[in-house]
Amino acid sequence: MIKLESISKSYGRNQALGQINLTISQGATTVLIGPSGCGKSTLIRIIIGLIKPDMGQVYIDNTILGSANVNYLRRKIGYVIQEGGLFPHLTARHNVAIMARHLGWEKSSIEKRIKEIAQLAKFPLDGLDRYPLQLSGGQKQRISLMRALMLDPDILLLDEPLGALDPLIRFDLQTDLKAIFKELKKTVLLVTHDIGEASYFGDRIVLLHNGEIVQQGSIKEFVHHPAHPFVTQFIQAQRNPLDNFEDT
Ligand code: ADP
Ligand code: MG
Repeated sequence: MIKLESISKSYGRNQALGQINLTISQGATTVLIGPSGCGKSTLIRIIIGLIKPDMGQVYIDNTILGSANVNYLRRKIGYVIQEGGLFPHLTARHNVAIMARHLGWEKSSIEKRIKEIAQLAKFPLDGLDRYPLQLSGGQKQRISLMRALMLDPDILLLDEPLGALDPLIRFDLQTDLKAIFKELKKTVLLVTHDIGEASYFGDRIVLLHNGEIVQQGSIKEFVHHPAHPFVTQFIQAQRNPLDNFEDT
């Protein structure tokens, strides 16, 4: 479904990605994980054609992504931008509908589709006329998700969609998102820096460090057969609350 071949990208002398080879399977959830600055967002932006790699090719459904077909291929992809990326001066409804309006959909089709995905994303219909500032963090992320789903794309790219949420809201959204992925059978690439979230969502986990893939596979393989000391270091860097609890 998506294939990256020898992708490299530098910003000046800073290499953000080096020689990335990666296949993202159809209908499964792949999680891209790694520390801040390791190149996750750059990789996502290259897949959606917002950034051109210095070298290498992106294939989407066996077609090489290039300037001639980028607009067409982009419509197969729903993108949830890190930090949500909602337009603050547009209502939630308008944010969700923006591409469909641009493509000239009938008003009634737009309304029908918004109702469908609001139900799917568990967003209350009476909240649709609010502006992003009038929504909670969790509601904003539900609207970002709805915007990404509006055109019913085959592929969903989600860049740290739950990063800024408090633990309870995050837990609820993780549960709902996983159910949505399962129901819609989309090809999903989800970015996180949380190993617990990665193992919850990922049929396959890809660990990135300094712009290179360190290991890809299941969380079990990461734990039992780490390909590099960094894999173990990364997994152990998340605190377990019970470690600080003395049972007397
Ligand atoms: P992540 O999403 O994993 O936190 P990014 O892909 O945003 O990482 O960034 C990877 C590296 O590229 C970082 O060192 C970052 O500072 C750098 N970088 C990202 N975008 C730009 C840009 N537009 N200009 C210069 N450097 C950038
Ligand atoms: Mg990022």
